[in-house]
Amino acid sequence: MDLIFHGAAHEVGRSCIEMRTGNDRFLLDCGLKFHESGFDYPAKVFEVRSVDGVFLSHAHLDHSGGLPFFEHYKMRCPIFCTAETDHITQILLKDSHKIARIKHLHEAFSNLELKQVSQDIQKVAFNKETQFRSIRYNFFNAGHIPGSASVKIEAEGLSILYTGDYNTRKTALMEPADPHTWGHVDVLITECTYGMRTLPDRDELERKFLESVEEVIKRGGRVLVPVFAVGRAQEMLIILGKRQWPVPIIMDGMAKKVTRAILDGPNPYVANKQLLSQLFDKVEFVTSEDHRTAVAQKPGIFVTTSGMLQGGPAIHYLEHMWSDANSAVFLTGYQVKGTNGWMLDNERTAYVGGYRTHVQCEVHRFDFSGHLSNEDIQNTIKAVQPRVLVLNHGNREAIEAIAAWAKQNTKCEVFAPEIGEMLQLNDHSTIMKVYEECIGAECINEHQHKNPHHPDTMENDD
Ligand SMILES: [Zn+2]
Repeated sequence: MDLIFHGAAHEVGRSCIEMRTGNDRFLLDCGLKFHESGFDYPAKVFEVRSVDGVFLSHAHLDHSGGLPFFEHYKMRCPIFCTAETDHITQILLKDSHKIARIKHLHEAFSNLELKQVSQDIQKVAFNKETQFRSIRYNFFNAGHIPGSASVKIEAEGLSILYTGDYNTRKTALMEPADPHTWGHVDVLITECTYGMRTLPDRDELERKFLESVEEVIKRGGRVLVPVFAVGRAQEMLIILGKRQWPVPIIMDGMAKKVTRAILDGPNPYVANKQLLSQLFDKVEFVTSEDHRTAVAQKPGIFVTTSGMLQGGPAIHYLEHMWSDANSAVFLTGYQVKGTNGWMLDNERTAYVGGYRTHVQCEVHRFDFSGHLSNEDIQNTIKAVQPRVLVLNHGNREAIEAIAAWAKQNTKCEVFAPEIGEMLQLNDHSTIMKVYEECIGAECINEHQHKNPHHPDTMENDD
């Protein structure tokens, strides 16, 4: 069996691993990588027409965003994912396509390819081992966002566990991933987003967040809570729902559509679903531009996209609040360097009405995350004890930190592949090689797109 790494190799973004077994070819995820000058697709992918199946771990665009592009190049095969991942992926892909059109950016695919993605999706249930062609697959709860799964594949007498993005700690929204349910694993491919970092205690973080909101409301200010539409918006709603507020909670942007999709889904791993449903009935939804302007001027708690204030209604609320020292912006996750959210957090500046402005309102970042800490990654590896450990989805330092720990503290063979490398596996040996395709094969990687592309949600990872 060969594993070829087309993305998320010493980076976060464009997750895509190709698995070749017998005559079959499969992809584990097919994502985009966003950066300041645009976005990249998975690298060095040849002959997408002959791909036999895609296993999609979750809806975030850095795992799903390449699908319509691959469909454009005539990839026609089942895309396996859970029901929520299906629903949310389609919302995010449509949004990203819509924004690209509004901004007159060149897109490599059309509505036709979006439709093709939806036709090729085959919904799968959690914890149900299923045969497909030469392999068996099984989806386990990943605890990252609703619908997220870690995927186990068994082929050629080997079992491979691809974690996707996962979290082994319970949050207000998600039941945690449990590596003990994965069974025997020969090859563990784990994400390392926070390979270098510990994360704050969740209960303590929630308490601090609620106290900070209370203080602002008491002094008559407004609170802007920029959120990612998937996961963080619902989580913040549940946390806010733990207290009574004398002001309305207002939800705006994509969060509404995604919350509806989550409430409609069958996912047994969404925690507090009933509470979420009750709160969803109580919050005020913004229905028009005039409505938005009216509510932005009154006391309230505004839960809205985008999480890094790069687009979406969050910008509108910031324009009403930036000069009010009584009000506050409470960021709720990781901020990519150069975004408005990052500037607010690090410099207390943001682009307001086209000008870079020093803001007078309070700014604080609460370190909520859908990923696991370095210690949790280590605990996962210790629990699973794979023969082969493959590290991906993290920057170089994060991956090297986990690699150094694993070499010292475990018996695993440790691999941290670069883009375009191939791991050849069999019963007893593992070899890393540079992957070279036969001459003449069509490589879709020549069609890269350098566009400043900022969909409302920018649903990358945090
Ligand atoms: Zn993710």
